Amino acid sequence: MFQEDLLRWYQENARKLVFRQKKEAYSIWVSEIMAQQTRIEAMLPYYERFMARYPDLNSLAQAHEDDLVKIWQGLGYYNRVKNMKKCAAYCVENYHGQFPQTKKELSKLPGIGDYTAGAIASIAFDEKVSAVDGNVIRVFSRLYHITEDVSQTKIKKQITELVDASLADPISDYNQALMELGALVCIPKNPRCDICPIRKDCQSLLCGDAHALPVSAKKKPRRIEEPMFYIWIYQDKIHLKKRPSQGLLAGLFGFDENMPQQVEEKRVLEPYTHIFSHVEWHMKGMVCFVKEGNEDFYSLDEIHEKISIPSAFQPFLKQAEKIIEEREKCQKSL
Ligand code: SF4
Repeated sequence: MFQEDLLRWYQENARKLVFRQKKEAYSIWVSEIMAQQTRIEAMLPYYERFMARYPDLNSLAQAHEDDLVKIWQGLGYYNRVKNMKKCAAYCVENYHGQFPQTKKELSKLPGIGDYTAGAIASIAFDEKVSAVDGNVIRVFSRLYHITEDVSQTKIKKQITELVDASLADPISDYNQALMELGALVCIPKNPRCDICPIRKDCQSLLCGDAHALPVSAKKKPRRIEEPMFYIWIYQDKIHLKKRPSQGLLAGLFGFDENMPQQVEEKRVLEPYTHIFSHVEWHMKGMVCFVKEGNEDFYSLDEIHEKISIPSAFQPFLKQAEKIIEEREKCQKSL
């Protein structure tokens, strides 16, 4: 069986990642949520900053939502960090500021799904349970040559049963070894079968179609939207407003979608496309200099230091900054 080979390979090849240094539920949880949306190497600076600011569930439970969103800026999927705060508050209230120690209890917490619950329970608490994510599905669909559509519930269930039946000790290393194999060797496009520690047990390698697995039904095409944003500027300050509490970028700062009534000067901005998981925004924008401002207008320093602007709006923000700078220079030279 492949488990011994896999564990040996993991001992010799695992990346020395900071959150693997100690088996601690909080750091594993933070790293797992961050890793769902970005590559491990890219997320490390975010992880360090987050842990320095919120080192445990108690500090996270008390975090101000705007500060949390600011520290998460660049990672996207802001609902995840909002759910983390809810989860932390729940643990403080119900579990004395600690995580429960079983996959079953963990998966009942806000924002924690089956995979994350399995990862925390097995890595931090040595519970012998699986943690099946996309990487593990890919490895197992190739290892067992599963040629059916893995997005079907029954096929996912079948793979989870295979993973459950394969669990080996130490479980913490075994689950991490599967994740590491999926991340470094059994990669999506060109699996590195020549250096794979479990190649002699791999059925799709024998069949010669590893690169074609897993089979997954084509995703629905993204919905196209064409929003228009108006960047109101008063003196050198920009108007920002919180977006509605439902929908894309819910509750985050953004620009206005209506034109101000009295405009001194307008400039059309370069359009661009921002891609969300299910929607594409083909964005148009216009800077509007207005005659009156209020407390919802922010200086560029305030925006950079305190306010999180979602990446969807960053290109317009940069263009607006440039226009403000040019206008200032022009006024000085008059
Ligand atoms: S031999 Fe290739 S396809 Fe099979 S598990 Fe290893 S990397 Fe994946």
